[in-house]
Amino acid sequence: MSQLTRRNWLKGMALAWAGAAGLLTLPGMTRRTLAQAAASGSTVFSIPRGNVTFHTYVAPDAGFLVTTHIIETETSLVLVDSQFTQSQARGALALAESTGKPINRVILSHSHPDHWGGLNVFAGVPVFASAGVQAAVAASAEGTIANVRANFGDEFTTTAPVIENVIEAGNETIDGVAFEFAIYNNAEDAEQVVVKLPEAGVMILQDLLYNDAYFFPGLNRVNWISILEELRAGEGYDLLLAGHGFPARLGELTNAIRYLTFFNEARATSQTPDELNAALQAEFPAYGAAGILGFTGLAFQ
Ligand SMILES: [Zn+2]
Repeated sequence: MSQLTRRNWLKGMALAWAGAAGLLTLPGMTRRTLAQAAASGSTVFSIPRGNVTFHTYVAPDAGFLVTTHIIETETSLVLVDSQFTQSQARGALALAESTGKPINRVILSHSHPDHWGGLNVFAGVPVFASAGVQAAVAASAEGTIANVRANFGDEFTTTAPVIENVIEAGNETIDGVAFEFAIYNNAEDAEQVVVKLPEAGVMILQDLLYNDAYFFPGLNRVNWISILEELRAGEGYDLLLAGHGFPARLGELTNAIRYLTFFNEARATSQTPDELNAALQAEFPAYGAAGILGFTGLAFQ
């Protein structure tokens, strides 16, 4: 169970506010940067929490710092998201294989291709998503594959995801560990699954949270902020796993709310995406994954 003492809380807040310079440290946590050619520049964190270990694979900055999380239970693994490119997915698969345990399932958190482009690398593993995510991927995958390959090249898959299993909001026990699935709508994407492990004090927020990275503009930032406020009020969680960026403390939600609030204010006074991007970079100069700013035009449509 998480040790959410006042001292740890204050330390977490201080780290969150320190921004990119504030490196998260937790009991037993390890961090390494991969040098293997296929996954070069990726960062891997392993964080033990009771009888569960969380492994977070973070793609390099040029790969938008996109994450895959591996929840290692006693005899198997649950993965959340499957990377953007084939090479990063192979890196995440190698991390999973290094545990010596089989992959029970891959959960897709939402419909955006930076989270499923590498899914084919996990061939044979059951794929799970909410019904809304399943429908959104089915409707968009073919066009997305053509579009992404035109812009990012043949590192992106030619294979549309096949999602056979539907996740519903609620509780499920997997390999003796309590999981809670929550579904949020109309925020960064039309539908997003959040995976909570209450006994470990961990929330896997994926693209509801960008940690020290520029945010995708999303669909409804006002609603997105309300969801983050609701999540911030949840008690007992002190480790957040983001869709882009390194693992974070609960205090990172305050930074995310501040970012989205600033984005909306700057959007209202900006005439062009370039003007808005300049304001974002001036306000958040240390943030990574600047390639995501290439999507700011979506906020002007
Ligand atoms: Zn994403």
